[in-house]
Formats: sequence, C-alpha cells, structure tokens
Amino acid sequence: MNEDNVLEISNLHVSIDGKEILHGLNLSIARGETHVIFGPNGGGKTTLLMTIMGFPRYKITQGQIIFKGVDITHMPINQRSMMGIGIAYQRPPVVKGVKTGELVEAIIQTHSSDKNATVLAAEANMGDFLMRDINAGFSGGETKRSEMMQLLAQDPSLVLLDEPESGVDLENIALIGDLINQVLDKKHPMQRREKIGLIITHTGHVLEYVNARTGHILINGRVQCNGDPRDMLETIKVSGYTQCGGCEGGLH
Ligand code: ADP
Ligand code: MG
Repeated sequence: MNEDNVLEISNLHVSIDGKEILHGLNLSIARGETHVIFGPNGGGKTTLLMTIMGFPRYKITQGQIIFKGVDITHMPINQRSMMGIGIAYQRPPVVKGVKTGELVEAIIQTHSSDKNATVLAAEANMGDFLMRDINAGFSGGETKRSEMMQLLAQDPSLVLLDEPESGVDLENIALIGDLINQVLDKKHPMQRREKIGLIITHTGHVLEYVNARTGHILINGRVQCNGDPRDMLETIKVSGYTQCGGCEGGLH
C-alpha cells in the first residue's frame, strides 16, 4: 500500500439485486489528485461512485475500500459522509415539500461547516432557487448547479462527481468548472492540496477546467486502462472504446 493513497479500492465486486455489476475493480487516488473515469453506458461507472458513497442497495460481495487509512467497506452511508465523502448525482431526485435552501442549511449544520447558504447560492447562481422544492422543475443545468452548491456546503475531502457537465449548456459549463475547482481546492498548489476527486465524464469537457492527470476507462465492471485522460479522450473520439479492452498499463 502506498501511504500517500487517500482512497484505495481493491478487488471490488459489487452486486445490485443479486446481479454482479463490478467484477474485481482496482483504483487508488493519492493525496491532492483528481482522477477521471470514462466508459461506455452501462459499464458500471455510477455503480462505482454509489458504492464508494455507501448506498445500501449496492452490495459489496468481495474486496475492500480503504479511505484515509480506514476500512470503510461495510461502513454506513452517514458515517462515510461524516468522514468527508460527498457525491453529486448523475440524475438527482426531485424532493417535493423540502426547499433547496433548507437542505443546504441542514448540510451546513450537520457538517459543522463554516459556509453560508446565501453566499454559496450566489456563487452557484442559485439565489432564486433556495425557496424552491429540491430539483422540482429545474433544468438540467440548474440541477447540476444545485448539486455543486450542496457539495460546497458539505465541503467533502473525497469529491465524487457523476457526469457534472451533462445537460449543462455552454454558458453555464465554465461556471460548473469553477465550482468543481472550488470544491476540489484547486486554488492551492498541489503540495498543499488535501482533497481528492473522482469525476465521471462522457464529453471530457470537464478536462478543460479541471487539471486531472490520471484517467481510467471502466468497461464491463473493470478498469481496463489507466493513463493520461487527454490521450484517452483523443483515442475514444477516434475509435470509441474498441481499443481499450484488456489494456493494463495505458493506451500506448
Ligand atoms: P454507467 O454509469 O457506466 O452507465 P451503471 O453503473 O449505471 O453504468 O450501470 C451498470 C449496470 O448496472 C447496467 O447494466 C445497469 O443496467 C445495471 N444497473 C444499474 N442500476 C441497477 C439497478 N438498480 N437494478 C438493476 N440493475 C442496475
Ligand atoms: Mg452513469
């Protein structure tokens, strides 16, 4: 084990409703690093993030997840959240009867965060949304900005982002990029950065804003490739995922 690793996932097998989705996945993230995950639909990307967060539906049948040196494989979701794991969903649910602002306030209180809901809302251009029910009638971009606002309120040290730019128009994509960099503490130089990130992206847009140096390609429940995310994106653009099968070290 590399002692710089904040997250270390080994031989992870995960089933949903008795069907195995992840078949022995390995992935490690060292202090201060952000990694990107690519992969075709249905490969298991969302399953991986939901499993790291600890949703009970995702059953770990083999393998281990170590976070900050602690084995969290069987730790409940609320404890993981208190340890500093936070997620922005690919498709967050609508919650009628709960105002977005109430949720943000609750997150700030639960995590004893020093953030201020009004300031966060202004940063995420969500000022008019605090009084609205969570995600009710929000556009794709508004939903994603709301997710980022909630993550900033929590201020997690492991940031899990499931397609943060999907459904976001070009006007708002730079804002999402800024919010991602903010939640990842990118303003600090690498040596002083504590947080780690794992970002699923289809389009790769996020790479224009986030300086991620490691990418992984997840196909059929396994990491098939590790390498430079920009090289990966170029290869995927040209030949899809056909070149990626069984490549252990990278795309070269
Ligand atoms: P990705 O995010 O890479 O598109 P997912 O992790 O969402 O992939 O899905 C991986 C596989 O798991 C897919 O075949 C999907 O149909 C299946 N799956 C996801 N959620 C469920 C569920 N709740 N019940 C049964 N199968 C599921
Ligand atoms: Mg997904």
